[in-house]
Amino acid sequence: MKKNFTCIECPKGCQLTVRVENEIVREVLGNQCPKGEVYAKQEIEHPLRTLTTTVAAQQLTVAMIPVRTTGPIPKPALREAMQLIKQIVITQPVKANQVLRKKFHVFQCRSHRHAYH
Ligand code: SF4
Repeated sequence: MKKNFTCIECPKGCQLTVRVENEIVREVLGNQCPKGEVYAKQEIEHPLRTLTTTVAAQQLTVAMIPVRTTGPIPKPALREAMQLIKQIVITQPVKANQVLRKKFHVFQCRSHRHAYH
């Protein structure tokens, strides 16, 4: 099977054509540097995403606080991560990039961008 997608490792945005057999990358074409092949293998064999969302706030000046995982997590874990993050309710002021929940699975969740009071 062949898959086509864009390499996002740099602004060139090379159009990659990837030959995949049994979910293993066998060939990458269209990349202008080795990073494209690494990216294609990661994206096909072990895709990762940083999850960005919001959590509820109570007794603060805002109702929702933007958060994200502290790093990329496996794409298949996104749904489970969302279910766990939905359970978080912030009731005290938080600082930018403060870790809100540690190791509540294989990832952490922290506030994003601003402090909230
Ligand atoms: S393959 Fe290399 S040159 Fe092309 S977009 Fe990816 S990183 Fe940039």
